[in-house]
Amino acid sequence: MDDELSPREIKRRFRRRVRLNLGVGILAGLFAVGAMIVGSDLPAGAFLGAIGAVAVVVIATSAIFWRCPACDGSLGQYVYPRRCPRCDAVLHD
Ligand SMILES: [Zn+2]
Repeated sequence: MDDELSPREIKRRFRRRVRLNLGVGILAGLFAVGAMIVGSDLPAGAFLGAIGAVAVVVIATSAIFWRCPACDGSLGQYVYPRRCPRCDAVLHD
């Protein structure tokens, strides 16, 4: 918890977290598509294992990084919140 963040700094950090989550999501999506393309050559267990591993990474990344920069509260169930549901900090315009 850091009370010294300016509103501008909060928005800047929130944008960085959005990009990070988006990047991980896109990479996971590309990986899933790639796995589907080569999936027919893999044993079913390996294919499902790869998809499961990607899902775990995506979920873990959101759980760790999808937080309010001001109060560190989880933003888990919100896709792109304008304000933090916990401390009411403005996250983006
Ligand atoms: Zn907050």
